[in-house]
Amino acid sequence: MWNGKMKAVTFSYDDGVEQDKRLVALFNRYGMKATFNLNGSRHISNGPGYPWTFNGNITVARMPIEDLAGTYVGGHEIAMHAYTHADLDKLSDEVCKYEILADRARLTDFFGKVPVGLAYPCGRYSDRVVNVLRENGVKYARTVISSHSFDLQDDLLRFNPTCCDSDERLFELAEEFINTEATKPMLFYVWGHSYALDLEGRWERMERLCEYLSGRDDIYYCTNAEALL
Ligand SMILES: [Zn+2]
Repeated sequence: MWNGKMKAVTFSYDDGVEQDKRLVALFNRYGMKATFNLNGSRHISNGPGYPWTFNGNITVARMPIEDLAGTYVGGHEIAMHAYTHADLDKLSDEVCKYEILADRARLTDFFGKVPVGLAYPCGRYSDRVVNVLRENGVKYARTVISSHSFDLQDDLLRFNPTCCDSDERLFELAEEFINTEATKPMLFYVWGHSYALDLEGRWERMERLCEYLSGRDDIYYCTNAEALL
């Protein structure tokens, strides 16, 4: 597995917003690979979709359709985040299925590749949602529950990340990951929102993390699908 390596690092970022451009550039500079989870209906061609503003000066906008293909370059993965960012656990099975299939179709149109994974919008899911995903061929789905662990997990449709990029233990975990001699596969899986790096002034911290993890022969830098499937 993992090109013969025992350690892997992967990232997962939600919502397909403008700040992803800066994040992709950062990941590419340090050789990191990530998965970006997008809502197919939220990207429109005539300008930034659904912008909202924090503190009066930070704008968060969905990536316009014409920027999508040129943004996510460098071997990153595109995955689903439901067609309209709906709370999947509140929907009927039928509408939940629509959210998955419509998102998959739209993202396939955008990127010319069929997405296989998903991040639950707002982390919301239920056993029923998991069944809908399974029946419709989704291969893995990420929650927002931190495992604070590097262990592999059996249930890929309820996959718990190691931690969020805002986690106060982020660097403690990174050091543990780097310094532990792997006797079994170890996956460091970090998720977040690129716009939160703007809102919370955490770009420098994110760059420090990428720099700290980068350039090691014993680590496989990969997308979520490459890490999990
Ligand atoms: Zn989201």
